[in-house]
Amino acid sequence: MSRLVVVSNRVAPIKAGKVAAGGLAVGIHDALRQSGGIWFGWSGEVSANPDIGCETVGNITYATLALNKRDYDQYYRGFSNATLWPIFHYRIDLARYNREEYEGYRRVNAMLAEKLKPLLKPDDIIWIHDYHLIPFAEECRRLSIRNRIGFFLHIPFPPPEILTVIPPHNELLRTLCYYDLIGFQTDTDRLAFQDYMTREVRGVIEADGSLTAYGQNFRAGVYPIGVVPEEIRELAESYKGRRRPMRRNTDVLRKNIISVDRLDYSKGLVERFKAYEAFLDRFPEHRRLVEFIQIAPTSRSDVKTYQTIRQQLESEAGHINGRLSDLDWTPLHYLNKSHDRRTLMGLFRYAAVGFVTPLRDGMNLVAKEYVASQNPEDPGVLVLSRFAGAAKELTSALIVNPYDCIGMAEALDRALRMPLAERKDRYEHMMRAIRAADLDAWRDIFLRDLRTFSSRPRPAA
Ligand code: UDP
Repeated sequence: MSRLVVVSNRVAPIKAGKVAAGGLAVGIHDALRQSGGIWFGWSGEVSANPDIGCETVGNITYATLALNKRDYDQYYRGFSNATLWPIFHYRIDLARYNREEYEGYRRVNAMLAEKLKPLLKPDDIIWIHDYHLIPFAEECRRLSIRNRIGFFLHIPFPPPEILTVIPPHNELLRTLCYYDLIGFQTDTDRLAFQDYMTREVRGVIEADGSLTAYGQNFRAGVYPIGVVPEEIRELAESYKGRRRPMRRNTDVLRKNIISVDRLDYSKGLVERFKAYEAFLDRFPEHRRLVEFIQIAPTSRSDVKTYQTIRQQLESEAGHINGRLSDLDWTPLHYLNKSHDRRTLMGLFRYAAVGFVTPLRDGMNLVAKEYVASQNPEDPGVLVLSRFAGAAKELTSALIVNPYDCIGMAEALDRALRMPLAERKDRYEHMMRAIRAADLDAWRDIFLRDLRTFSSRPRPAA
């Protein structure tokens, strides 16, 4: 079988025999272990040294390089995280555009393709991940790399009216067409992309389902990323930490509501805190009987909008606890630091409600992890935003609109009162969906399609 070469912005090597947290890292490691291969990308360091460092563990070679300060600022902090991330999450209001940053983004993609080229063999299959690397295939074609190249977008794809806010949208989308296969999390994302291609640039949908645009023929498909349910359940069951970390010196048995998110404005954290406050106001009978644990490790703290969201959240948390706490009850526990997977899965299993309400999210793995952590004999209830990709599959969650504060408060009340039989029904239905589209399926089906799709001969870039 041909070798797999994975390219992602960050590379997560195995440390002391352990894979880094997060579904993507686990999935990529498994895929690479099967076929052997290379994982190529940024080491996470900022330095003027442009050399590639190679480290081989088993049959996987990690090839990483540092970015210099200018590249980091323009490619990563600038165009990727201050233009593409907000626009792709439908947040025109938070996006900025700077031409130099875009040029830096293009420059780093070209540089990475050049660095990768000497490591490639002719029959390698190349799999590129996420929005940082949209132009990567075009740069490869420019260097006469003829291998099959697939792309998976982990985040949402916005409707054309939003996408076209990015001044070079045309050039950016043209570069995407150099992939053989483009994967999206949901059909909504794929249709938005197809809409752009057919309406904005007069692309054509061929009889075989492929697309032709900008003189290129390629395929676009839906490959929802999944989790490894057995691993999650084992982790959840084996968690030996304190099950009720927040209990005070009291005999009251409290139920937990839990949320886990990177501290990002796309996650709807402020709206969620307001909904929790509305819940305690409208349904005061739950006071003292619930505690809400929000784990939100800081992320991208050198981007301005992330500092703002953090301040808003701290103010909201202080307001809720200041107004409603008592000497023996703290309604909200806001933990601004990351936790390991075993702890998270253990906390999920214990929590009566998983409260997952992003304003917009590509998939949201936490939603699937919460369900997969549950005890099948006494499962908790997932309250899930309709704007998470996961809502397309987990239709038996209590689906909410994260802009509707009272609607979310009512859903929390309903979740906490839900009878066991209904909780079990909903849990089993969601587990069927999670097992049917697990992490192996995501990887295997994407790579199968990338291998089997016969693209027409490609004109040179
Ligand atoms: N996660 C973690 N520790 C933390 C917070 C999150 O390991 O303190 C993991 C979480 O379990 C999940 C991933 O990080 O696997 C986050 O993925 P998700 O799709 O929910 O959101 P993203 O961060 O990719 O936007």
